[in-house]
Amino acid sequence: MSALVKIDDLKVHFPIKSGLLFDRTVGYVYAVDGVSLEIKKGETYGLVGESGCGKSTLGRGLLRLIEPTSGEITFDGTDVRALKGEQMRLFRRRIQMVFQDPMSSLDPRQSVQSLLVEGLRAHGLHTGRADVQKRLRSTLDSVGLPASALNKYPHEFSGGQRQRIGIARALVLGPELIVADEPVSALDVSIQAQVINLLGDLQESLGLTYLVIAHDLAVVRHISDTIGVMYLGSLVEEADGDQLYERPLHPYTRALLSAVPIPDPRVEDRRERILLVGDLPSPANPPSGCRFRTRCPWSQARCAEERPELRVFDDSGQRVACHFAEEIRSGDLTPHEVRAELVHPDSDPAEVGAELIVTRTDLP
Ligand code: SF4
Repeated sequence: MSALVKIDDLKVHFPIKSGLLFDRTVGYVYAVDGVSLEIKKGETYGLVGESGCGKSTLGRGLLRLIEPTSGEITFDGTDVRALKGEQMRLFRRRIQMVFQDPMSSLDPRQSVQSLLVEGLRAHGLHTGRADVQKRLRSTLDSVGLPASALNKYPHEFSGGQRQRIGIARALVLGPELIVADEPVSALDVSIQAQVINLLGDLQESLGLTYLVIAHDLAVVRHISDTIGVMYLGSLVEEADGDQLYERPLHPYTRALLSAVPIPDPRVEDRRERILLVGDLPSPANPPSGCRFRTRCPWSQARCAEERPELRVFDDSGQRVACHFAEEIRSGDLTPHEVRAELVHPDSDPAEVGAELIVTRTDLP
């Protein structure tokens, strides 16, 4: 598959201003700080990370809803950052966004018909009443809503149905890429699966490409061909979906995965849990060297001095940004101060496994 999107060393830095009379820039928030990735045509790229890691800013930077500070974005061979005015407006039709909260992203005063027609008008696709009606009905049908929904208002629908309207609003313009920012996190768990399945079905029938942004690894697992893990503005690991779950290399990915419950009591008891201590550092004042070093149970002196590159780990193509990924994987490097706690204290540790609680007292 060829790459539909190429992002190279993308940075989005927001200035911090201060001063009453004169606005002085006193620093920057490094929301996205040098991300490079590719999204292949027809695939789903899942981008995960904690809230505040820069994943949503990256999605908005890709559409230039937020102007990137530097770096390159290529979409189907077009240099996106060079587009201006009318070119940019026409180009935007090809990339559409689905937002997290359908209630706040849909204007409550507009009927569904008005919401869908608005986009068609803005992009010059309003080509006669009969054609538009046909297009609206077939779009609603593709997201599982009846034609009668056209005359209703957002508040008349359930959360899941509202998200279907949000997806229809993106689809009606015939996009090639959909950036879905936390598309199911505002929905009940039972509805989440329906919306995820709908996205999968639409991809199959329409050949869509997705960038799915989520904080929940369990959500992206089911639909992603490739998964990228972000931490404090940087991509720290990237792998094929299954590969990442079977062999997480970066300590942060391991910690994220260790927090996902496994619905099998035997496996659940053996699960290694790595509890990260401390909060995500401020993106306005990121740690030197490796951004993850203040929370990393394996950090060494080198981690404070040198920022690790996102490098290819082996022939599988898995990429990781850690100086010591090989040593951590082989067990040659052990985590600092590990206190092993049994999930079931009466059981034999060899049989039930242990919970790792990592505390850091000796940060370099
Ligand atoms: S480079 Fe160092 S601090 Fe960063 S993840 Fe690897 S071991 Fe941890």
